[in-house]
Amino acid sequence: MSLTFSDRLISRLTNAQSVVAFTGAGVSAESGVPTFRGSDGIWKKFKPEELANFEAFMKNPELVWEWYSARKKIIANIEPNRGHHTLVRMEQMFPRFAVITQNIDNLHRRAGSTNVFELHGNIERNYCTKCGTPYTNEEVLTQAGVPRCLKCNGLIRPDVVWFGEMLPEDEWEQSVRAAESADVFLSIGTSAIVYPAASIPLMAKHQGAYLVEINPEPTPLTDQADEFLMGASGAILPELYARLVAERQLQQLP
Ligand SMILES: [Zn+2]
Repeated sequence: MSLTFSDRLISRLTNAQSVVAFTGAGVSAESGVPTFRGSDGIWKKFKPEELANFEAFMKNPELVWEWYSARKKIIANIEPNRGHHTLVRMEQMFPRFAVITQNIDNLHRRAGSTNVFELHGNIERNYCTKCGTPYTNEEVLTQAGVPRCLKCNGLIRPDVVWFGEMLPEDEWEQSVRAAESADVFLSIGTSAIVYPAASIPLMAKHQGAYLVEINPEPTPLTDQADEFLMGASGAILPELYARLVAERQLQQLP
């Protein structure tokens, strides 16, 4: 099935100097990343909110680490999908292109995107809660029990933003800057309800970006979007990209 895109969207994208893709859980779900809500096994009895917070970690680091080790192992075996791969190609297509993601699974970088801002951290990274030394998954998962810093013996934690924590300031500021200078802003696979991240598409729109939402179902953002493309990003993005490539070739004809 071939999708039709509006002339306006194609023209906006063809002339865009700066494009931002803002991604959420839907993009990961298309790769098979579980939501870890109501999932099977022993974790069924815990809500993510109960484990993904600093207090829970300090109270019971064994339990929180057991949960993260399980998540890390599942995610390590998951592959980026066609949506991720198309965003890599788009990075090469536009003079400026950024991915702002709320996902922690590292799939954008693994696909090959280089200009990625991670608002909620990255599950493949870890750091010491005492001295800040970073650790890879390999370094922590090979330690028996709760991983500890080799320099100061402090507790190592996953480099993800937990409930009640601030977003990383650098990533936030760079995301806002990218959003506010975007000509086209693509909001992809996100329910647009988790603040403050959810405010980013509207910041882009208020600064003049053409706001496009790609999602299997409407969200609170849909009414504000200039266009709503209903469906999976793994289906829509490759078609959109192919259409843009065709358009460029047409323009280059004598
Ligand atoms: Zn340390």
